[in-house]
Amino acid sequence: MIKKIVCVLFLTFTIFGCIHKPYYTETRLIMGTVVEITAQDKDAINAAFFEIERIDALMSSYDPDSEVSRLNKKRELKVSYELLNLIIAARNFYDITGGAFDITIGPLVRLWNIKEYMQMEPERIKIPTQAQIEKVLSYTGINFIEIDEKDSIIRLTDKRTRLDLGGIAKGYAVDRAIEILRQSGLKSALVNAGGEIYCLGKKAGRQWTIGLENPQKTDAFPEVFRLKNRAVATSGNYEQFFIYRNKRYSHIIDPRTGYPADNNISSVSVFAGDCLTADVLATAIFVLGEVRGAQLINKFEGVELKIITR
Ligand code: AMP
Ligand code: MG
Repeated sequence: MIKKIVCVLFLTFTIFGCIHKPYYTETRLIMGTVVEITAQDKDAINAAFFEIERIDALMSSYDPDSEVSRLNKKRELKVSYELLNLIIAARNFYDITGGAFDITIGPLVRLWNIKEYMQMEPERIKIPTQAQIEKVLSYTGINFIEIDEKDSIIRLTDKRTRLDLGGIAKGYAVDRAIEILRQSGLKSALVNAGGEIYCLGKKAGRQWTIGLENPQKTDAFPEVFRLKNRAVATSGNYEQFFIYRNKRYSHIIDPRTGYPADNNISSVSVFAGDCLTADVLATAIFVLGEVRGAQLINKFEGVELKIITR
């Protein structure tokens, strides 16, 4: 009898000692992608989703009422402090990436129409002509954005220039969602917005495990990375692309040529202390290629790079 009690007590203590509050994972479709949040507090998860939805409503190019769409339409707008700061950050990334990351890419994204061509029969695809590309390039570039920081006014100086925050908004939204989870008192959570990820703290005493698939070997096991208070973002040409006459056209455009980025890279993953930096650098390095990409990474402290080539 005594032995039994000891066993039960022992078990009870071990169970109480080991049990952690359960984790919940919720997914929603926002920003045109699957957003997944894992944490131990459902209310906090809801609040984080609310924040991502709020940012989408500010920065989406697809929502005609978003702040970015209104700016694109009016060409001069007193914008929120938040959008102002994001545009300033994007301008700094344009400078440091030598123009590889460029939020004025909007009209070129539209010209290449990748999202629609991805779903179309090849006969219906119309590759833009060199003349069309050059015309659009003539109003693409960060110098077509005028920033009045004092009054929080953004001006687009050519009536055809359009902003597209698709290469920065998800990373920003992930960072904001993590901030909301932190403010709710959480020390452990994971936010994943379509491959732009931040891992807060540890999960049940261990670092978060992230598996990165090799788009060249989809049947192989994903490569595993362990992360704590760190972000990873991946850009590639393996999900959003179309093939025309045996050539692959990706959704990331090289702002210097006006053509979809074309090099030997299949995917780029960037690890950084925040998801905005990781998101932007992954897109930029997909444009710059392996060698210049590695040089760019050296300009940032604590940033690491994993490139998978074709
Ligand atoms: P990602 O998949 O995170 O690399 O972001 C790609 C998205 O960013 C595209 O769908 C476009 O909306 C936008 N984009 C494409 N090319 C560029 C570029 N060179 N610089 C900045 N944004 C870009
Ligand atoms: Mg990205």
